[in-house]
Amino acid sequence: QFSPEPTSDHVFRSKLPDIPISNHLPLHTYCFQNLSSSSDKPCLISGSSGKVYSFHETHLVAQKTAAGLSSLGIQKGDVIMILLQNSAEFVFVFMGASMIGAVSTTANPFYTPKEIFKQFKAAGAKLVVTQSQYVDKLRDSYNVVDDNEKFPKISEDFKVITIDDPPENCLDFSVLSEANENEIPQVSIHPEDPVALPFSSGTTGLPKGVILTHKSLITSVAQQVDGENPNLYLKHDDVVLCVLPLFHIYSLNSVLLCSLRAGAAVLLMHKFEIGALLELIQRHKVSVAAVVPPLVLALAKNPVVAQFDLSSIRVVLSGAAPLGKELEEALRQRLPQAVLGQGYGMTEAGPVLSMCLGFAKQPFPTKSGSCGTVVRNAELKVIDPETGCSLGYNQPGEICIRGSQIMKCYLNDSVATAATIDVEGWLHTGDIGYVDDDDEIFIVDRVKEIIKFKGFQVPPAELESLLVCHPCVADAAVVPQKDEVAGEVPVAFVVRSNGFELTEDAVKEFIAKQVVFYKRLHKVHFVHAIPKSPSGKILRKDLRAKLATATQIA
Ligand code: AMP
Repeated sequence: QFSPEPTSDHVFRSKLPDIPISNHLPLHTYCFQNLSSSSDKPCLISGSSGKVYSFHETHLVAQKTAAGLSSLGIQKGDVIMILLQNSAEFVFVFMGASMIGAVSTTANPFYTPKEIFKQFKAAGAKLVVTQSQYVDKLRDSYNVVDDNEKFPKISEDFKVITIDDPPENCLDFSVLSEANENEIPQVSIHPEDPVALPFSSGTTGLPKGVILTHKSLITSVAQQVDGENPNLYLKHDDVVLCVLPLFHIYSLNSVLLCSLRAGAAVLLMHKFEIGALLELIQRHKVSVAAVVPPLVLALAKNPVVAQFDLSSIRVVLSGAAPLGKELEEALRQRLPQAVLGQGYGMTEAGPVLSMCLGFAKQPFPTKSGSCGTVVRNAELKVIDPETGCSLGYNQPGEICIRGSQIMKCYLNDSVATAATIDVEGWLHTGDIGYVDDDDEIFIVDRVKEIIKFKGFQVPPAELESLLVCHPCVADAAVVPQKDEVAGEVPVAFVVRSNGFELTEDAVKEFIAKQVVFYKRLHKVHFVHAIPKSPSGKILRKDLRAKLATATQIA
């Protein structure tokens, strides 16, 4: 019988030794494990009101919220939707849900009613916690979809809780925050139980629910902040800036959960405004700033920065999208006292794959443009996208990751799961990168469809499915175009239906009405046909090349 030669993979690991990880615990127990030593320390600081919750208070209100959710009928395994800007209530609801074994699906409050409805329905959510200003979107959703796809009426059966003055039929947040913490039901939580359900389009197609378990999130947090120095990017006396939205896993994990675990204070900002941001950094002596490349641009280039004292910042962590070397250098000039490094993440990967190791101490300086080295307790390999063979140092290929931190699976989508996590447990990222001689990872390209606008996901398949619903559109494809400020913007190629007139503005407006601001089309090119492979796949590479030449000519 033929037995193939065992292939020896080139597997890259952290430069630091593995650590013991308590990933048998429920997430909330793990995050609040050091509560006794940090009880009276500030945990959550509201940037807008200045209100401070200590670790003890945060834990207590989360417990009350758990009891309140349970009294409203939420049980282990149920999904609730958090539709909130950054706020202390976001934290109480997420941690409270964890305490009763419920699952939080976090959504962008700027989404259109239709986008909210799609996630709500796909997640099978039973309750929404939101702000009064977004309640109309939940009601609007009632009108925007087909008859058989209605958002339930806000009522006894479908509850909406607002953290501010509740509009008609909605419940006040006090039903959660003032519940009796002694009434939390006893539930047994298994490490493989889901706790978070963010949505991501992954390497292809429409947004899908990403099942992150207690074990995956604990592993990811531990990889970042547990164990001995020097990988401790957070210390217990840090004040960590939380301006990136908590509905995205980067902020939820690397800012909130890591800070809770490390005993650091989280400064919550509900929206980005450069003056307010700088003032808050100065006032609260922020020491760690988790940012995305457009924020690095603002910090590096905006003249107003010079008017503020930012000397408290010791760490700047940039992630969610590529950060150019020049920008990285420009920020280093501005904040010479700070260590600036990148993290590389993907929602499905739990999310952190790699991180700069220069945060706490040398001897691990990180080169400009590098995303650091793979996190501890994980394996990374780079494969040839054509052959699947693993590649060695300095050879670019698709980055794959394996470890307990990666998602369990996509929700109700075994086909997409099988296309993303192979039988050996490797998660295929769709990112092209290489590992250099110092074990540092550099991302150089993306083979997947996703467009990243300021770190936000823009799934081309979603825009394409909307475009082809237009009566005058016969076919369409959406690809990224490079942009100095946003990183990338979505651009459409559209084939008009025979005999129909259609202008660029009409197409842009048609999309703009249906999607959140960062998914809007920046340009529409009318073409005779969309290039496709014999199997009908859009040849996105060809379209991207076409765009690149068009930009050069222009
Ligand atoms: P998301 O799931 O929204 O976090 O998006 C994940 C994708 O963002 C990754 O697969 C990469 O394509 C991109 N990304 C995240 N961090 C970085 C980084 N530091 N450098 C380059 N691309 C990044």
